[in-house]
Amino acid sequence: MLHVANEDVKKAIGDAVKPQLIDGKFTMSEGGKTFKTYNPATGKVLAEVTESTAKDVDLAVAAARRALGGEWGKFKPFDRQAVLLRLADLIDKHYDDLILLDSLDLGCPITSGGPKKQRAIALLRYYAGMAVDIHGNTIQNSQAGEIFSYTLKEPVGVVGSIIPWNGPSGMAIWKLGPALAAGCTIVLKPAEQTPLSAIRIGELCLEAGIPAGVVNIVNGPGHIVGAAMASHPGIDKISFTGSTETGQAILRAAAGNIKKVTLELGGKSPNIVFDDADLDLAARGAAMAVFPNSGQICSAGTRLFVQRGIADKFVEKVAEVGNSLKIGNPLDTGTQIGPLVSEEQLTRVMSYIESGKSQGAVAVSGGERVTTGDLAGGYFVPPTVFANVQDDMKIAREEIFGPVISSFVFDTIDEVVERANATTYGLGSGVWTTNLSTAHKVSQRLQAGSVWVNCYQAMDAAVPFGGYKMSGNGRESGRDQIQDYLETKSIWISL
Ligand code: ADP
Ligand code: MG
Repeated sequence: MLHVANEDVKKAIGDAVKPQLIDGKFTMSEGGKTFKTYNPATGKVLAEVTESTAKDVDLAVAAARRALGGEWGKFKPFDRQAVLLRLADLIDKHYDDLILLDSLDLGCPITSGGPKKQRAIALLRYYAGMAVDIHGNTIQNSQAGEIFSYTLKEPVGVVGSIIPWNGPSGMAIWKLGPALAAGCTIVLKPAEQTPLSAIRIGELCLEAGIPAGVVNIVNGPGHIVGAAMASHPGIDKISFTGSTETGQAILRAAAGNIKKVTLELGGKSPNIVFDDADLDLAARGAAMAVFPNSGQICSAGTRLFVQRGIADKFVEKVAEVGNSLKIGNPLDTGTQIGPLVSEEQLTRVMSYIESGKSQGAVAVSGGERVTTGDLAGGYFVPPTVFANVQDDMKIAREEIFGPVISSFVFDTIDEVVERANATTYGLGSGVWTTNLSTAHKVSQRLQAGSVWVNCYQAMDAAVPFGGYKMSGNGRESGRDQIQDYLETKSIWISL
């Protein structure tokens, strides 16, 4: 059943070229160039977007810097809390716009909007609370009586937020919440593949009463607009989510003015199933650790380690769950798996699938692009489960960012921990067992920012998320995240 009528889609997109947001005004880049964004379910053009230039980045940064010293700088913590709560209410009220734009731009099933909406609102409300709970410490130093010291927390300043295409509105909100709570101003760049929802969020920020220049949005290719942000002397901090390769480029570019840089990068997360696990729960969990969003999730549990006694039967079960998921038009309410985001991503994922086959792995399910009926023009890849994968194969080592599980057989705890950790990444991980001791032992030994036991991908505004090793720097969500948007000042008072 089509959830959204064609007229509503037309209305949501409109005919006009999509703008940038600088200093509270929606404008076209003076460069005059535009780029197109495509619907990955059909391969057709969705909209045209103004392409910001380095000069526009300069203007956005200048506006953000003025805003720090202007009305926004005078906002009390309670005022920042109030606008964040208003923004949360507006996101609540207009979330249908955001999920429709994301569904068209990225291809995520429209039904995935329910949980995403709850997360976005909860996150903004959580950080609204944090806005009134920022404080330094009184430090009883060793020279007490002679000199007194305390610390103050101040906003870091202008933040450049660069986000990927795999969760357009969710990522934007994840960046805005802590930055605004801390009192920073922002230049946000959505991914060039999925720019539409950020512009709507920009409108809602203004409607919430966030002063002009506090939230600015620029659009365009990463190597131009993103790179101009990463190297900009007027930006104090970059918060980046995306690939490890781009994260490295940003770190290098940020060296010029020693920007603070937080990075949420790639992963190749292990998901470990012991033979004493609840196998039905684990099979569904293993499939859902990868297949939602067509596997375009940085913490997806793509390396599935299964204990030998249950391996064949279990992998078969995971494949069955994969096969049961309905692939289709993301705007259809029955759809569980939409297309990949772009033709480029399709080519990349299919080349990994081919490499798996040619290196001797066996596709127990999926493995071929879907080109039937209405789906022919889109970038659809079915849930794919590989058996007989060896640790040194390409599909065992590299992030695919598609609906592909590589499964492995293991015997002992020591062995599986060593193999699970033998990667340059360290973002997510999963453990499935009914043995409490195994659950704790393995959790403590995995080198990953999150360990999910008998669940996967649980998230909460209050719980830190982030990567070990080459999966990143810093944490998002929780009290940890806001610290990255604050400077610490130590004040000494001679008595
Ligand atoms: P992908 O390769 O899947 O597009 P990226 O990590 O390259 O993932 O993209 C994530 C975000 O980083 C996007 O907004 C993109 O425009 C931006 N980006 C890409 N290259 C650079 C770069 N060199 N400097 C800054 N941002 C970049
Ligand atoms: Mg790229």
